[in-house]
Amino acid sequence: MHNTIQTRLIHYAHELGFQNIGFSQAGRLDTAAERLEAWLRGGHAGNMSYLENNFDKRVDPTQLVPGAKTVISLSYNYYNPDKQADPDAPKISMYAFGRDYHKVVKKKLKLLFEYLQQIADKPVEGRYFTDSAPVMESNWAAQAGLGWKGKHTLLITPQVGSYFFLAEMIVDYDFESTHAIKDHCGTCTRCIDACPTDAISKQGYILDGSRCISYLTIELRDNIPEEYKDKLEGWMFGCDICQQVCPWNRFAKRHNEPDFEPHKDLLQMTKNDWQDLREDIFNEILQRTPVSRAKYEGLKRNIRFLTIEDTTCQD
Ligand code: SF4
Ligand code: SF4
Repeated sequence: MHNTIQTRLIHYAHELGFQNIGFSQAGRLDTAAERLEAWLRGGHAGNMSYLENNFDKRVDPTQLVPGAKTVISLSYNYYNPDKQADPDAPKISMYAFGRDYHKVVKKKLKLLFEYLQQIADKPVEGRYFTDSAPVMESNWAAQAGLGWKGKHTLLITPQVGSYFFLAEMIVDYDFESTHAIKDHCGTCTRCIDACPTDAISKQGYILDGSRCISYLTIELRDNIPEEYKDKLEGWMFGCDICQQVCPWNRFAKRHNEPDFEPHKDLLQMTKNDWQDLREDIFNEILQRTPVSRAKYEGLKRNIRFLTIEDTTCQD
């Protein structure tokens, strides 16, 4: 049985729009630490050297937040079934349609954290994050039972799918832990088969980040290597293919967050509009979205790469 404070916190999290919430006792993630070490050794991080930094904090939130007792995992739905109108337009990952989630979700986390401080029976300290600190978000979310890590390595929640952001509050307050759930990938290999760059290992559960289109189009600062010339399948920012083919996403329902609505012109832009994209249009339509991370020049680079790909295919 949850105590009253836990129940009230869960209730308020839902009121704020969080889809799911779960609790784990804070401590070192030993198995995940071993896997992360092997993954980094395997060169799967590409040039994301920041993933090597703060290793001890990353695998143990008590090193990040002194006195931490509980990791509270949360998810926030961003699913939007609307499509870009021109099927030939270069594609943007759905999570980046609207306002930058770091800002949107962080605001909600702040409210939730302050609420906990108000209702708790003793002073509570802690920190809260969404993709903004060295925290193994999906491992904590899986441990708390928000879902299981699918073969594509994203978290899948039954009845919801995987189109959500993860966030967490790490607090020096004890809560009753919730429990991990079973992996339901079974014999399915759709994400592995559909990935155009073979970024997912043959058995699944290991992602070579350096081969993933999300990395190539967002994180990579150098030119996209020639070997990907005919493999990006039109994606100019991120990639949703492994989520699109996942059968669990048939349960996804439209988000309810006004801030995640795209700019009115974003989904209407044609292939030509993107090829002729000017910086002022980029600023107007994309500056508030996660696409700003790639910057104007980065997005232009990706569009050029796709254009060359396109021309080569027609030859
Ligand atoms: S996001 Fe795209 S490139 Fe990355 S693993 Fe999924 S299907 Fe492959
Ligand atoms: S596509 Fe299949 S194997 Fe991949 S994550 Fe979804 S259920 Fe699991």
